[in-house]
Amino acid sequence: MNKNLSNLPENLLRTSNYLDHPVFNNYHSETEMLRYLKKLEDSDIALNKSMIALGSCTMKLNAVSEMIPVTWKEFSQPHPFSPVEQMDGYRELFTDLKNWLRSITGFSGVSLQPNAGAQGEFAGLMVIRKFHEKNKETNRKVCLIPSSAHGTNPASAQMVGMKVVVVKCDQHGNVDYDDLKKKAEEHSDNLAALMVTYPSTHGVFEEKITDICNLIHNLGGQVYMDGANLNALVGIAKPGNFGPDVCHINLHKTFCIPHGGGGPGMGPIACKKHLEVFLPKHSVIKDCGPATGMGAVSAAPWGSSSILSISWMYIKMMGSEGLKKASQVAILNANYIAYKLKDSFPILYKGKTGNVAHECIIDIRKIKSDTGITEEDIAKRLIDFGYHAPTMSWPVAGTMMIEPTESESLREIDRFCSTLQKIKQEIDKIQTGKYDKIDNPLKNAPHTHVELTSNKWDHKYEREEAAYPSEFLKTNKYWPPVGRVDNVYGDKNLFCACPSMDEYEDTVS
Ligand SMILES: *Cc1c(COP(=O)(O)O)cnc(C)c1O
Repeated sequence: MNKNLSNLPENLLRTSNYLDHPVFNNYHSETEMLRYLKKLEDSDIALNKSMIALGSCTMKLNAVSEMIPVTWKEFSQPHPFSPVEQMDGYRELFTDLKNWLRSITGFSGVSLQPNAGAQGEFAGLMVIRKFHEKNKETNRKVCLIPSSAHGTNPASAQMVGMKVVVVKCDQHGNVDYDDLKKKAEEHSDNLAALMVTYPSTHGVFEEKITDICNLIHNLGGQVYMDGANLNALVGIAKPGNFGPDVCHINLHKTFCIPHGGGGPGMGPIACKKHLEVFLPKHSVIKDCGPATGMGAVSAAPWGSSSILSISWMYIKMMGSEGLKKASQVAILNANYIAYKLKDSFPILYKGKTGNVAHECIIDIRKIKSDTGITEEDIAKRLIDFGYHAPTMSWPVAGTMMIEPTESESLREIDRFCSTLQKIKQEIDKIQTGKYDKIDNPLKNAPHTHVELTSNKWDHKYEREEAAYPSEFLKTNKYWPPVGRVDNVYGDKNLFCACPSMDEYEDTVS
């Protein structure tokens, strides 16, 4: 084919083969392609199967009506550097969204450039760095980060050249105020910022948030708020009003852009007036940020702008009352789950009133020491029930963090809770000796259909207990395509999954 394109220079023509993996060559009819995609889908446990209670990830409904505009050519086809005067529609979308995010967060400045939460953190900290530079305080390099923070926080601080100092948490999951005060004072001459997540990753509303922000400000530092948990705040409280100077907003969490599987996200940042002049800018599209801005954090001036239409649709359709209700229901759902599960699994952190925020952490550590069953065994057993595991061992090792969001019905939440209760009953059977300590449905989970239907079944429990531990599975069974893998071995021993291992061996030997 290349030969037909006579305008291509001869020396640039490709001579090697490419795309010769069967996956690129087996599905050339629509029927085949459709079946291939369906096959991949069937291997997966996604939101179209059951709730995904991944704490901190906010796996809420991605409504079809929110998705549709992404498919419109007016949104999907313009080049990021199209002349701005031809992009009035996009401009309106940006303006609306910025105004709405301003009113939701209580901040005055918004940049739509960062492509993810982590990139927002980086951009926000760069803004803070610029602020200190402007004040001729380039020595301010210390960034205080509570031990409960998401791993992206210290990574971002490191990337902007700050020195990370870790602050302890107390037994209720709050930032340890005394430790914070001690470290902030100790580093006051060089204090650049505190990064604080509100509500915290421990699933509680940090009661001292305002005191915390005042403390940092009095010592000359700025407060960066990790806004990934905004789904517990929208319509209820505005970060711009209780202390922080800048925060990021995960549009792919709180504002319905689909994520998981590495899809594009959006992590705009919002800030107070005094930081606005340092927000991201762009060398090609000059008017996407202030001329005095920190520079660009993305190749495109407004990041992954086409998917902003999803968040626009969500906010527009919800309205301010709807958004507030969503936050309330998200918090209600998390508390309902915490209440339902508390007799099976201890809830690690609660606020003073005994409530959690929009997520809760169940503690598996005692179960582990009593029975040898780990959070990973529970995660794998959940697959047999057709459920994706909650967030594992973060922010606390040996626990699971559950975030239902407002999108789940009471029926589905009840089904999820009864599944975890059922798994707890199985664990009890291990403790009382009814199940073997090693050969039990938890340790061997997940069970593949090949194993379950094999003529050979040597386990010390019944096939039916393995495959259909709950009644609902009789009519809605998920068949795990693979059994348990050795995670550590897998991480350390990468190999190519190309068609023929012989071919692969030939090339390496
Ligand atoms: C998800 C998350 C982040 C990072 O956001 P990404 O969009 O994944 O980069 C940071 N902090 C917290 C608390 C999060 O939950």
